[in-house]
Amino acid sequence: MQITTLRRFEFSASRQLSGGRLHGNNFYGWAGIRGPLDSLTGMQINIVDLKQKVHATLERFDHRNLNSQMPGEEPTTLNVARAIFADLQVGLPDPVYLYSLELAEEDENAALVTLDEELEIVRFGFSAAHRTHAPRLSQAENQRLYGICNNPAGHGHNYQVEIAAPHASSVPADLWQYFDHRNLSNDIPELSGRNVVTEAIAALIAMKSPRAARVRVWETPDFFAEYHPGDNSYRLGRRYRFHAAHRLESHELSPQQNQSIFGKCNRSDPHGHTYKALVTVRGELDPLTETAFDLGCLDEVAAGILGELDYTYIDQDIAAFAEMPSTGENIAAYLFERFAGRLPGALREVRLWETPNNQFIASLEGDLFK
Ligand SMILES: [Zn+2]
Ligand SMILES: [Zn+2]
Repeated sequence: MQITTLRRFEFSASRQLSGGRLHGNNFYGWAGIRGPLDSLTGMQINIVDLKQKVHATLERFDHRNLNSQMPGEEPTTLNVARAIFADLQVGLPDPVYLYSLELAEEDENAALVTLDEELEIVRFGFSAAHRTHAPRLSQAENQRLYGICNNPAGHGHNYQVEIAAPHASSVPADLWQYFDHRNLSNDIPELSGRNVVTEAIAALIAMKSPRAARVRVWETPDFFAEYHPGDNSYRLGRRYRFHAAHRLESHELSPQQNQSIFGKCNRSDPHGHTYKALVTVRGELDPLTETAFDLGCLDEVAAGILGELDYTYIDQDIAAFAEMPSTGENIAAYLFERFAGRLPGALREVRLWETPNNQFIASLEGDLFK
């Protein structure tokens, strides 16, 4: 298992891209740090130090003109992400290192730079109707599996699409129009006779965007299906939440050391968070249902594991944290082990938001984003 600590950042800048006009953008992103977990503190890097480091790095970009800051280079979002990556890499406390940088133009296009890959991410939305119905199953089985989603009248979603490709320009600019305000079960020839689940939509978008490395389609803010054309595999991600109190303290450290390392998180009064956990599994399409994983099963597993944490004081109520500080890193690792035990071979990662600004990902070794 591999832990990645991510810190959110944002800045605003102006820029002029070739052939375009001077304009401005609000950018936001995530800096991802890797390295060993300190067994005493349960942290990879002190998040306060990371926050300061990120803030200092952004000084050169925030409220500035990106063309002047990056002379001789076109300030595309990918190039800006590369520049921030290069700056942020320098001076991180050994042995942690910068692994990834995600940079988005607010809710529009984005870029991903990691030590393993660089991709541009085209994002768009569309609104469409569909009916969840597996033609190879009986009506009774469809009803049992899909309930009201199988209603013959159909229902609809505001879908959000993220296409990751080496070059954004390889994605057809009008792709969204093919899906927008359609009934996907009736109007799209390629989906005719299929169970029009999110997996099918992601694979069709990939077919229409042949250079895509992967296509993620969010059906709701808390559920996505992702298609990987390279190995014809799927990822499904479901986001859950739980509410828990905690405080950070290591029994191996003195009160003064705890105070200086954990700061306000070490106050004797516990604080707490609305944690969010995005659990991602991998699967191949089941020929009968045309889905890549049984979401009912995933929900059941999640209800069991996260239900144990919901409305608890983690450090006192959860045995695993009696001796181990309840840092985001440790909670993400704990959840990964628990989910892996219940979803053998399928679990890819658990992405935990402790606050909207701090994220911890427990994933298979070297596997992030893939
Ligand atoms: Zn639906
Ligand atoms: Zn906390």
